[in-house]
Amino acid sequence: MSADILKTPIEFLKGVGPQRAELLNKEIQVFCFEDLLYFYPFRYIDRSRFFLASEITEDMSYVQMRGFISDIQLHGQKRTTRMTAWLTDKHGGRVELIWFNGFKWLKGKFLPGQEYIVFGKPTRYGNKYNISHPEVEPVSPAAINQQSVMQPVYPSTEKLKSRGLDSKGISKLLKTLLPQVMDFINETLPQKLRDDLRLLPLRRAIHNIHFPEDTKTLARARARLKFDELFFIQLNLIKLKHVRTSEARGHVFRTVGDYFNNFYHNNLSFELTQAQRKVMKEIRQDSLSGKQMNRLLQGDVGSGKTIVAVMSMLLALDNGCQACLMAPTEVLANQHFESIGSMLEGLGVEVRLLTGSTKKSERKVLAEELADGRLHILIGTHALIEDTVVFRNLGMVVIDEQHRFGVAQRARLWKKNTTPPHVLVMTATPIPRTLAMTLYGDLDISVIDELPPGRKPIKTIHQYDTHRLKVFGFMREQIKQGRQVYVVYPLIKESETLDLKDLQDGYESIVRDFPLPEYAVSIVHGKMKAADKDYEMQRFVKGETQIMVATTVIEVGINVPNASVMVIESAERFGLSQLHQLRGRVGRGADQSWCILMSSIKLSSDARKRLETMVSTNNGFVIAETDMKLRGPGDIHGTQQSGILDLKIADLSKDEKILKYARQKAMEILEKDPGLQHAENYLLGKTLRKLFQAKVVWSKIS
Ligand code: ADP
Ligand code: MG
Repeated sequence: MSADILKTPIEFLKGVGPQRAELLNKEIQVFCFEDLLYFYPFRYIDRSRFFLASEITEDMSYVQMRGFISDIQLHGQKRTTRMTAWLTDKHGGRVELIWFNGFKWLKGKFLPGQEYIVFGKPTRYGNKYNISHPEVEPVSPAAINQQSVMQPVYPSTEKLKSRGLDSKGISKLLKTLLPQVMDFINETLPQKLRDDLRLLPLRRAIHNIHFPEDTKTLARARARLKFDELFFIQLNLIKLKHVRTSEARGHVFRTVGDYFNNFYHNNLSFELTQAQRKVMKEIRQDSLSGKQMNRLLQGDVGSGKTIVAVMSMLLALDNGCQACLMAPTEVLANQHFESIGSMLEGLGVEVRLLTGSTKKSERKVLAEELADGRLHILIGTHALIEDTVVFRNLGMVVIDEQHRFGVAQRARLWKKNTTPPHVLVMTATPIPRTLAMTLYGDLDISVIDELPPGRKPIKTIHQYDTHRLKVFGFMREQIKQGRQVYVVYPLIKESETLDLKDLQDGYESIVRDFPLPEYAVSIVHGKMKAADKDYEMQRFVKGETQIMVATTVIEVGINVPNASVMVIESAERFGLSQLHQLRGRVGRGADQSWCILMSSIKLSSDARKRLETMVSTNNGFVIAETDMKLRGPGDIHGTQQSGILDLKIADLSKDEKILKYARQKAMEILEKDPGLQHAENYLLGKTLRKLFQAKVVWSKIS
């Protein structure tokens, strides 16, 4: 047998068969032996000891106890029925057990005089604890033995569970699988690297991840696998960067010509900030180096990244190239198209828009103009990366606010030209360091750390709903001074209709409390027709309305310097980065701006922390770090769903140290052996090819 045994369809594992195999495919994307091998538990339960009722504390997420079960009772009627029982430990301490269904089956199950092992999540109730839906098992030598370790918990789904593939079922499959394949698992890290970092061999790590020998070895196994995951991402990114800087050519923009100069002298209505100048200098140097630029531009909302993008694109035009700018949504693409169009007025620059809603006939014209070079700057959404979009000579690509745009996606853009275009990635959502390293670890970084002059830092205040009248009073005062106000409501997919009702109610109460003619109110939400939305937005932009009641659709795009108050309703329901983005809609003019976070009095501790963070800082980086700590990185910027950062075991909010080691090691190794051709690095090259070849064909890039 060969190493191909790892690719054996999961159907052929003893205990699986065709039907379960189909479920494993569909539900957890396990297709072959290898997939199951790398299907890791998401946590472990410490079943190495039994706790007494008196030892339970509030912060325990799970507890294992041992004792007798008595006083089984049914309460309530029909839909409110529940069954309770008491567990008494050997010191007489008691914990209540509760079930809300399954009584019939349960009732006869517990025998007096029989000792049970009970396991579940304790919840405090007065000065007692209860456990709802505990796992209960009679004490037996086998049960005790089995319980004496860290027990893995695998993610499962309802469908899998109904076929016996709950966490335990999956563990059972692994018990069958491991001995069959252990000899075919190939080490991925050279001995020396493992020795340097005292990492477990891969086989031992994988064995321990599924069947921990003890707590300590489990920790080392996890560290080893986390290292692997993060290390190969870094190795890939840094190797790419080496290839780009050593082999791949880049456009050389020697000339600063008419497009750039005319814009700078005639169309630019303000002085650039120091920070903007510094970044332009960096871009200019990159574009003279003969290498392809790949640069990440970080700058808080309102710091003036668009101008930098525009000037970079004009530089490309001055050197006979075309440019494009990609935005995450149609709204934002539209807004860029309009604002950049008007910025470039009179310069003879052809700017066009391409989004999902661009008509076929228009696309045809567009394609022709792109191909013959008449079209200079193309602005749009993801539609831009489609292979049907062909430029005559693309020299500069700007990517705005695309947190899901990893190296593989960028590579598609590089391939749009024989000489790969320079790439500028812009973001206002400061990305936590670890995520930036993982997603953009191959990019050079520029920062705009200064706002245009005259801006006053936004003041942020948290108010409970009960103080609404006070907030209304404040809004009146500001409007009297000529300012405009946003009132934003959450809109979350799952309860869209409810949210919409909140928004409508809010709108009506505002219209009532702020009567015409002094106050005109705009309303905008996602369910409106584009034309109506546009009309309402325009009224606010032109100053015809004083209050804009909206859902988060205003998060992106809109720029109204005269708006100085942002009231966020049910602020506890927003994530931190979203709150920060919303706040960034004000503070764009010279006046003092305010962000008022409204919430109910009842707040979860996380929600409270989010609101406190918002009140205490305007620093986007601090906010991003806090956000990641609170939420975990899983869903930060939607990277998880997008599959760009498909981390199985590493956790970017906790594993910064491992990531740093990984990055440092990757750099050291590639420094000495950029092509991974030395014998000692053979394994690394092989693994890297296996992991990334399918995704990024970067050999074709240069
Ligand atoms: P962001 O970095 O959020 O994309 P924008 O590029 O949209 O910021 O700029 C925000 C606002 O600041 C715009 O109205 C822009 O015209 C203005 N702005 C940019 N740079 C300067 C500057 N150096 N001086 C004054 N205003 C500026
Ligand atoms: Mg912007």
